[in-house]
Amino acid sequence: MDTTISRRSFVALASGSALAAASLAQAQAHAQGGAQGGEAAKAPAPLPQGAGFYRFSLGSFRCVSLGDAEFELPTRPTWGQPGSLDEADIAAALSYDFKKADAVRAYVQPLLIDTGSARILIDTGNGPRPDGTGKPVSRLRATLAAAGYQPSDIDVVVLTHLHGDHTGGLTDTDGTELMPKARYALHKDELAFWSGPNPDLSKTPNLPEGWKQNIVAGAKKAADLITPRAMQVADNDQVVPGVRVLHMPGHTPGLIALEVSDGGSQLLVANDLMHHDTLSLRRPLMPVMFDADIELGAKTRAKFLEKAASDKALVFSYHMPFPAIGRVRAEAGAFAWVADGWRW
Ligand SMILES: [Zn+2]
Repeated sequence: MDTTISRRSFVALASGSALAAASLAQAQAHAQGGAQGGEAAKAPAPLPQGAGFYRFSLGSFRCVSLGDAEFELPTRPTWGQPGSLDEADIAAALSYDFKKADAVRAYVQPLLIDTGSARILIDTGNGPRPDGTGKPVSRLRATLAAAGYQPSDIDVVVLTHLHGDHTGGLTDTDGTELMPKARYALHKDELAFWSGPNPDLSKTPNLPEGWKQNIVAGAKKAADLITPRAMQVADNDQVVPGVRVLHMPGHTPGLIALEVSDGGSQLLVANDLMHHDTLSLRRPLMPVMFDADIELGAKTRAKFLEKAASDKALVFSYHMPFPAIGRVRAEAGAFAWVADGWRW
């Protein structure tokens, strides 16, 4: 998904770093009369959270879920067909999971995979782009450092697609490349689609025109930046040994998931096959306006969820609640996200 415009009610929960002070100040300003009004004014200002990263292993691979950002997204028109009964259905699904109906909380978590011989970063987070209050929101640098890595350690950046909430961290606040030595792996159709003269977004009729322009401009900028060191991949290619590409078109033409395997262990990196831990699973076929082709997006999502559920696969997914690791369960004619517990 792309959140350039819709991100609005950012709640700062920062790590113990330079970013913490800025984010805390932002949270305080927000709490003292921000978008949440009277209710927020009564609440104490949030204090910084922990380090914001979560390590786990997969065979001999070391993996780190890197907390980058969180934001609220308006439920409508993001999900459902305007003028349909979808609105009541969305509200019912959210209420069942104890969530409010008008906006949903989404999270942003790049994933680092250290295979021992290569360090791969999957998607780059929101980056220093401003949120609705004009403040930058990204903790990637801080959480990467807290986990013991520098941007210069990254050998390959895999971009699952070129929406801004996945490419924002390609550059630093001054526009310079954050990982100047890395190669950029992405699906060949993704680069071709956004690099073309007029990326066709006619199959997502609910997406407002201004948002379309914003998404296209952001993707073109990212495509220009990465092209000189782009490594174009196709379905079933290995980015590095143990990291295999799965082409999942719909959300964008070149969206990919990844199958990461080592020593008999396996992880599916689903990223934008899911955008929300309730709606993407409980209503997988409902149109999502950020899907460049809403029909194909829904079909691909449902097919992926069905396979993940029947395989009982361990799944990492970028927009799920931190640390974004869990499994998919078939439930009540649809699916549910079953989060994996924190392990020390
Ligand atoms: Zn996204």
